[in-house]
Amino acid sequence: MTFADVLKSNPALSTKTLVDFAKLLDPMDDRALTSLAANAKKITHRFFGRTMRLFAPLYFSNECVNSCSYCGFSRDNPILRLTLTLDQVEREARFLAGLGFRSLLLVSGEHPKFISNQHLVDVVRRVSRIVPSVSLEVAPLEIDEYRMTIGAGAEGLIVYQETYDRAIYGTLHTAGPKKDFFWRLETPERAYAAGFRRLGLGALFGLAPWRQEAIALASHVEFMLRRCWRSQVTVAFPRLRPAAGGFQPHYALSDRELIQLVCAFRVTFPQVGIVLSTREPIWLRDTLVHLGVTTMSAGSRTSPGGYTGQGTESLHLTVRGRIHNVSDANSGAEPQFEIEDHRSPQEVAEALAKAGIDPVWKDWDAAILNV
Ligand code: SF4
Repeated sequence: MTFADVLKSNPALSTKTLVDFAKLLDPMDDRALTSLAANAKKITHRFFGRTMRLFAPLYFSNECVNSCSYCGFSRDNPILRLTLTLDQVEREARFLAGLGFRSLLLVSGEHPKFISNQHLVDVVRRVSRIVPSVSLEVAPLEIDEYRMTIGAGAEGLIVYQETYDRAIYGTLHTAGPKKDFFWRLETPERAYAAGFRRLGLGALFGLAPWRQEAIALASHVEFMLRRCWRSQVTVAFPRLRPAAGGFQPHYALSDRELIQLVCAFRVTFPQVGIVLSTREPIWLRDTLVHLGVTTMSAGSRTSPGGYTGQGTESLHLTVRGRIHNVSDANSGAEPQFEIEDHRSPQEVAEALAKAGIDPVWKDWDAAILNV
């Protein structure tokens, strides 16, 4: 049975874990939320100690053939685009390593012409010479294609389903390979079969009613823990942010509800890492580090070349798939979305230390396998 089979049944009612989880998402008063938060804090300390894994995203292309209504990189948006060469990727990676990062997430849009499988493998190989932990957030691939990236040094894969509501998914993904809901849904299982050590799941909150989305996501996590137990599973709850195209969220997830959601996941899945990005404001990030979050990005840029200005000479404007050269671009490539926490990685690390949490820059080295 695949997770697609599970989702076609009713995930909300399929196990006791999910029934209990759904109850934790019910509206609750301050007293009940405080009690849930205290429990989440205790469980986080028991399972993860007072530590926080830090990573940075490294965008290497914002080319994309898909039309995703909510994304700044959508093919429909006439934006400045570029794909970094291997040398340019290396300079960005060395810059981030110089800031202390030993864990990088390689991110790109989906465009077979600009981001061929071979280019992806070459990018992974370059970056894995610089940092020991390389994860991918790229177009879904076949198992054999994933194996090539693992052979080049990738160890983690992030793939968010965006929304588990098939009807809503259909209205938001109107062109390109991403239209295929089940091809995306089955990606974590293909990635597991290929041998990734870490697998990241998530939904983009704002596209569908949040409780419904959270229950489907919990069902997916539960499935992966049962069937794909050799990999570490993490989960994330990104909320929609302003981006090119001006898409507005259809459904709200308030700050209070996000706190409740993080705590509910922590209590239900004590061993699962929870990832939080710089999309969220400082006060909320500083709150959630105590309540369940175990991995954070810091100092992020969401455009290719965003850290060091690499690649500006090859910037071009793309209008509905047609490339127009620009001679006077006075900005870099378009970011995927706006971030809220603009602190430097060092400032984030200092804030964590002040809160009694050890920032962890490195928690993996392939040499471990040779011991
Ligand atoms: S969400 Fe991903 S696939 Fe969709 S437009 Fe953005 S980069 Fe492309």
